[in-house]
Amino acid sequence: ATPAHVVQVLGTDSVTLGHGMTTHIARQIIQIQPSSAYLIGTDTNIAPLHLEQLQNALVAALAEIGSTARVHAYVIPPGETTKTRETKAMIEDWMLENKLTRDSCILALGGGVIGDLFGFVAATFMRGVPVFQIPTTLLAMVDSSIGGKTAIDTPAGKNLIGAFHQPRHIFMDLAYLRTLPRREFVNGMAEVIKTAAIWNEDDFTLLENGAEEILGLSADNSSSSDSKRKSEHDLQLLIQVVLGSIQVKAHVVTVDEKETGLRGLLNYGHTVGHAIEAILTPELLHGECVAMGMVREAEIARHLGYVNDVVIGRIVRVLQAYGLPVSTEDKKVLQLAPGKHCSVDQLLDIMRVDKKNQGDKKRMVMLSGIGSTYEPKASFISDNVIRKILSP
Ligand code: ADP
Ligand code: ZN
Repeated sequence: ATPAHVVQVLGTDSVTLGHGMTTHIARQIIQIQPSSAYLIGTDTNIAPLHLEQLQNALVAALAEIGSTARVHAYVIPPGETTKTRETKAMIEDWMLENKLTRDSCILALGGGVIGDLFGFVAATFMRGVPVFQIPTTLLAMVDSSIGGKTAIDTPAGKNLIGAFHQPRHIFMDLAYLRTLPRREFVNGMAEVIKTAAIWNEDDFTLLENGAEEILGLSADNSSSSDSKRKSEHDLQLLIQVVLGSIQVKAHVVTVDEKETGLRGLLNYGHTVGHAIEAILTPELLHGECVAMGMVREAEIARHLGYVNDVVIGRIVRVLQAYGLPVSTEDKKVLQLAPGKHCSVDQLLDIMRVDKKNQGDKKRMVMLSGIGSTYEPKASFISDNVIRKILSP
């Protein structure tokens, strides 16, 4: 096991990052939040891989302190389509039938879907019970688990019903990533690259130079050299880049909890990215669409004279090094979503409904270099400019 790093969010110790720390996680949880029952929420992909180990560790940790608290698990089907009111109601009814009380505690073991859904269950069960986030995807580690946002989807759109509910603690165990499919791992790397691009050139350089080593840590890696020392070195590199990302996220969430300015910087690539995602989902993943969005938004910054060709080149190359698509005409995109097409009009149409807009101006994060932005918040960009850059 690797010594754990602790990162503060909103002034308290909130994130523990390490590798192979299930026993530590279990002991910490029962110490931080003594409860009458612990409910682990997870999905059917993760359960056979990681549920039993956590359950056993919790039972053992409770036995160590002579506690009689119950340990339950609730397993749901994977994927965004499960993140509904109906699933939430089923979980709640199950909790009530099983006599879970106000002093229960929820452990969300999974990706963004599990974190959002079980986080929201925790936010409203008996007017709110504590939740621990235990993200098992890279995307959930660097993106959704920090900040206290929870939500479900409705037919009208994603994440429309939810609440801010800060987790008691977030445990990021990189060992979970060893079973994560390559494509899901890379999906999270898009957000890691995004954060370095707006905040930290050193981290960005690490990402440029370390693609092969970092990718070697996902489940279906094809790298041949498997000496222990090498994988230990690669692991340290991954810890460093994930730590860099969560430190930035923790910082901006702390100074801007309710998302008024600085936190908007984390939306780099997301204005165009979300529009692309609206068209290409579910064939393309969130991070893949953000990757394409980052390139387009950087090109808008170049058009406005904030960055030069070198910056665009570095963004494009680093994304490609991790196998991320850089344009909607990318071979990978055409392969994954055959027959789908992102026209400029359609993209602008989708962006039109963004509540962050002002008149015919959209909000977009403008880079001013690698690791820096033109403003400490998203900038207003006129439709004319966007149309010009998005046009083929
Ligand atoms: P996100 O990518 O937003 O974090 P999901 O919760 O949809 O969201 O997770 C992506 C997919 O990866 C799901 O199919 C999930 O079951 C699967 N998954 C999550 N964690 C792991 C893991 N550690 N190993 C293998 N598969 C995982
Ligand atoms: Zn994102």
